[in-house]
Amino acid sequence: MNRIAVFVGSFDPITRGHEEIVMRALPLFDQIIVAIGINTGKQCLFPIDKRLEFVKTTFANSSKIIVKTYDGLTIDFCKENNAKFILRGLRNAIDFEYEKNIAITNNDLSPDIETIFMISAPEYSHINASIIRELIKMETDVSKYLPQNIKF
Ligand code: ADP
Repeated sequence: MNRIAVFVGSFDPITRGHEEIVMRALPLFDQIIVAIGINTGKQCLFPIDKRLEFVKTTFANSSKIIVKTYDGLTIDFCKENNAKFILRGLRNAIDFEYEKNIAITNNDLSPDIETIFMISAPEYSHINASIIRELIKMETDVSKYLPQNIKF
């Protein structure tokens, strides 16, 4: 049986924190689909084509990782892609409280889909895409928070 996990987010932009969770989870799964949500209600700093390019560049050397965009419910995306696992990263108790309710709801709606949590590495647990966006707007160099080959 293929163990397929999805890792969803807006990745505006993808960070070293996101990258580290996916790379650490990789041995657990046959495939990880990194899925960029096209959430029309959310104002993003980077357009979808840029976010897609950054995520594809980040995982270009990993054949077990595929990158897609998606719209709608995560559990519907899982079903369409035959994924039985949702991968999430936990940085702190705030993430936990937020993620717990989503995971319970998803499991309630779709009992065959499990959410798998990984605790972020301590060196990345302060990395937050919204803080990075603010730094970018202030023209601050954020390269140390982004995956190595991301340039813009
Ligand atoms: P985005 O801000 O790109 O939408 P999210 O906040 O939705 O990303 O996060 C997508 C997933 O990545 C979530 O499971 C989140 O907890 C996790 N994540 C975000 N930043 C980090 C980090 N620095 N370390 C570990 N996991 C992270």
